[in-house]
Amino acid sequence: MVLGTEPKPYEGHLAIRLNEDRIIIIIKGSNPDDCIWFLEVDTEYVKQQKKASGTEVVAWSKGARGDAEKPVVISGPSGVGKGTLINMLMKEFPSMFGFSISHTTRAPRGTEKNEVHYHFTERSIMEKDIKDGKFLEFASVHGNLYGTSIKAVEAVADSGKRCILDIDVQGAKSVRASSLDAVFIFIGPPSMRELEERLRLRGTETEEQVQKRLRNAEAEIEQGKSSGIFDHILCNDNLEKCYENLKKLLGLDGSAPTNTKPSPKGIDLPPNHSVSKIDNKILIKCEAPESGNATKNSIVLDISSLKGGAPGRTRGLKRDS
Ligand code: ADP
Ligand code: 5GP
Repeated sequence: MVLGTEPKPYEGHLAIRLNEDRIIIIIKGSNPDDCIWFLEVDTEYVKQQKKASGTEVVAWSKGARGDAEKPVVISGPSGVGKGTLINMLMKEFPSMFGFSISHTTRAPRGTEKNEVHYHFTERSIMEKDIKDGKFLEFASVHGNLYGTSIKAVEAVADSGKRCILDIDVQGAKSVRASSLDAVFIFIGPPSMRELEERLRLRGTETEEQVQKRLRNAEAEIEQGKSSGIFDHILCNDNLEKCYENLKKLLGLDGSAPTNTKPSPKGIDLPPNHSVSKIDNKILIKCEAPESGNATKNSIVLDISSLKGGAPGRTRGLKRDS
């Protein structure tokens, strides 16, 4: 079974085994963002998938230069103000944060737009995508299926922004257990009465749905506070105060920061090349005899700090020359 998104059809490739776990594949004739791939043959992810499916498994992972900032997972009961706080953050720091657009089987609310607020989808399609390993996490929440696709998180990281996930406590637990290294923040209400009032004032749910969300809230608050999943717990009593505390946690309380981290860049590969490996370095040599200087056209990749991997990107590739 081959998991993950495969490279597009290509003219040719060079491959070299990095270790027992994976093979690096350098694709000829593709664009700089798309030329380094990894085929995982025995990583933790592949081992898990082999065990779960009972068959042989390999998995593709695209290589990306540089690191992405740790994603921020925000959880809390429905109506506590997660969306409001995230909107404030995105409005104040538009170049710094990107929202992970989840999939859901629930119907859109009045002003919600497909592919902006959620990918609204049918249950059968989402279930198939989950089975095909396209989701980082998923959960049944208030009677509907919600989930974070690997693509949604990678798209934000590829744009050089810090990813924000608004997911329920079960989803946070799954992400905690995954290979994604994130900061986990739980937002709690000042009281159940206040939570009920906010849900009613928002006016987006039927009475039956409000009741269901309130019933689930008690367990969510209990788990949020005691499960050890969350790194930080904030109480959203006064909105401005809570927002200031959230910014403090994210290191944004000083002078107005800008996103100085460049987007991870690709690699401009010469058309004819050969590849070799020395310790933690991959040497890609351009075959250009007329230049008479092979090293001038060489690319050295440092693979000592690789992170992530299938089912998402392999990050942390560094270029030495
Ligand atoms: P969630 O995304 O957690 O479901 P929302 O962000 O939609 O919650 O907030 C629910 C409602 O509560 C909204 O109408 C919002 O304007 C309101 N709200 C959010 N924070 C506060 C607060 N601190 N005090 C009073 N109302 C709030
Ligand atoms: P709503 O229907 O109000 O938009 O969201 C209901 C609940 O689903 C919220 O607690 C929200 O955090 C959660 N949720 C939204 N997207 C996801 C997701 O991708 N995965 C999980 N596990 N929960 C989600």
